[in-house]
Amino acid sequence: MKKFVLLLCAAALTVACSAPKSTDEAGESPLDKVLVKNYFPTVVNNIQKTEVKRAKFPIIDMHSHDYVENSDQIAEWVKVMDAVGVEHTAIMHCSWIGRPFDEVVELYAPYKDRFRFWCCFDYTGIDTEEWPAKGIAALERCKAMGATGVGELGDKGEGDLYARPVEGKGIHIDDPRVKPLIEKAGELKMPISIHIAEPIWMYLPMDETNDGMPNGVCWHVDTTNCYGYWKLMESFENALRENPGTLFIACHYLNMTHDWPRLGAMLDKYPNMYVDISARVAESAHTPRATREFLIKYQDRVLFGTDNGMDAEMYHGIFRVLETNDEHFYGPQYYYHWALSGFDLPDEVLKKIYHDNALRILNEYK
Ligand SMILES: [Zn+2]
Repeated sequence: MKKFVLLLCAAALTVACSAPKSTDEAGESPLDKVLVKNYFPTVVNNIQKTEVKRAKFPIIDMHSHDYVENSDQIAEWVKVMDAVGVEHTAIMHCSWIGRPFDEVVELYAPYKDRFRFWCCFDYTGIDTEEWPAKGIAALERCKAMGATGVGELGDKGEGDLYARPVEGKGIHIDDPRVKPLIEKAGELKMPISIHIAEPIWMYLPMDETNDGMPNGVCWHVDTTNCYGYWKLMESFENALRENPGTLFIACHYLNMTHDWPRLGAMLDKYPNMYVDISARVAESAHTPRATREFLIKYQDRVLFGTDNGMDAEMYHGIFRVLETNDEHFYGPQYYYHWALSGFDLPDEVLKKIYHDNALRILNEYK
């Protein structure tokens, strides 16, 4: 491919009508000088650019975190939610090194109709005799305090390191020790939101063949002493199969946006599985037609989520991707070199993903 590019460059030079400027005095090409990490192209195309400042339908955001420092910032966040059309937001307590769950609930109390809380599995003393009774009691306490579900659990290979107050190092979702809690979550009607692995590019060699390297390199996973991508997927499938009475929400499209048919096959096989779309805009919007097809086919099993702070612009960027047929733009976050395009989702699909699927779960699971 490199040779081909160089040939094209050479051809361009021979037809240039003025002195060629693609090399400097030393004969060096920008291709030799511009580093991938500094490559932020600007779109020059005169094409449709749509601003979507408010979602077309009301939103339930099923994946966010406790980003605020004080109650004034919650008030600001609620203003943004009102402006962009978010009815309420799920605060995932796990995976966030911040205040304890009790304090979160207390801080947000004045806005409790606008936020819901998800709590962790408490693995304290998992290898003692008191377990699992102790872990179950902690879960029941959470539920009594108003927790909607459990999450965000997170396993990138070393176990559920998102857990609080103690990390679940070496504890994967199919660990037999955790099964009593997973079953209890099902009984208590608490869905489990779980982050499994990372996008596939984080596992591939970090070299010129890696299509997602600019971001992949930031989140590269060293699997030397832990589960790799497919082993993690296997552990998640085990949990789905062994716990049919518990609902699982796989965050970030299960980090499987590179293989829609396989993700679809999992949804077909496991009726107790949903996915959320949070924080995977670039990973899905660089293949807009395939993603659109997936979202339409699985429109009843997909939930809206953000997982990316509370700025209005963040919401606008996601709406643009879901609602418009804009092409070739960058952002809302500029992580990869990929240009994005919108999905132009039909209204009935948008409405389900934004709101109705989440509402159905929240009504059934309470
Ligand atoms: Zn998250």
